[in-house]
Amino acid sequence: MDSGPPNALNAFTGLELDRVAERREDRSWLDALEREVGTRFLLLDPDTRLLVDSGVDAPRWLSPDERQSLLAQVPASLLGVAGNRGHFMLHLNAEQTEKVDAALGTARQDLRKAGRLFNAFDAGLYAYASGLAHWQDRTRFCPRCGGPLQLVAAGHRAACARCGGLQFPRSDPAIIVIVEHQGACLLGRQSSWPSGLYSTLAGFVEPGESLEDAVRREVFEESGVKVTDCSYHSSQPWPFPASLMLGFTAQASARGIELRDGELEHADWFTPEQIVDGIEKGELITPSPLSVSCRLIEHWLRARSGIELARLKAGAKQT
Ligand SMILES: [Zn+2]
Repeated sequence: MDSGPPNALNAFTGLELDRVAERREDRSWLDALEREVGTRFLLLDPDTRLLVDSGVDAPRWLSPDERQSLLAQVPASLLGVAGNRGHFMLHLNAEQTEKVDAALGTARQDLRKAGRLFNAFDAGLYAYASGLAHWQDRTRFCPRCGGPLQLVAAGHRAACARCGGLQFPRSDPAIIVIVEHQGACLLGRQSSWPSGLYSTLAGFVEPGESLEDAVRREVFEESGVKVTDCSYHSSQPWPFPASLMLGFTAQASARGIELRDGELEHADWFTPEQIVDGIEKGELITPSPLSVSCRLIEHWLRARSGIELARLKAGAKQT
């Protein structure tokens, strides 16, 4: 692989934000920040879709005054401070969402579209808020004793009223890997995907595994291919709803493919020429530019053949 920061292009990463984690329990500081001119509130509906102005590719931020008049009772989760401005998330129920829509004429945007359309800061902040809101939604009862949980620490912890146990926001680690063998890379597809779409192999890390163990196991389970060694490439939060994608490159010992666990409908080895040809003919579709999978394929193509995937796709005929 070539040099350069492989993580630089991953969507939702590198957010220029101070999360100010050390002040999440400082109620007087939080109260003051919530009222400060310049502070702004990101609004998520019950399905963690973002409230936006219709036709505008940016969040519909609420000012402290607007928050006070419309949603004073909704607790704010602290996201952090950026450019001397406080950033909070308000996760609304259906009734509160309707109230904002009626007052402000707001529309919705989902995270995948926001990832393509928003600037990097807005997209990254929405990804962060979306992951936090999803965890808050699904963390209502203590896994230890079944007691009710209450959000504390500005939305970043859930405390059990019965046993006092604390729950923390979590991400589920998943590996994603581009496997290479003598000038070709291994890509596969699931039967539910759009026709022609192929991606790198991926799967969740299991208990008791290192990331490298997970790479070896997943590739073997899905394709029957044995990985001889692997290297870390880059990572990406993937809050659909709670994954952390960990990208790897790997080498295979041989090409024989056997779809062992039935997760893939088809897998094959692709040379750079076959990828170029497939995209140009409209027969091969590569994964969303938002994904680490796309970064891995892009990086591999550039390193092996000097081909720029984005330029190739832009020039391909649309089917
Ligand atoms: Zn408990």
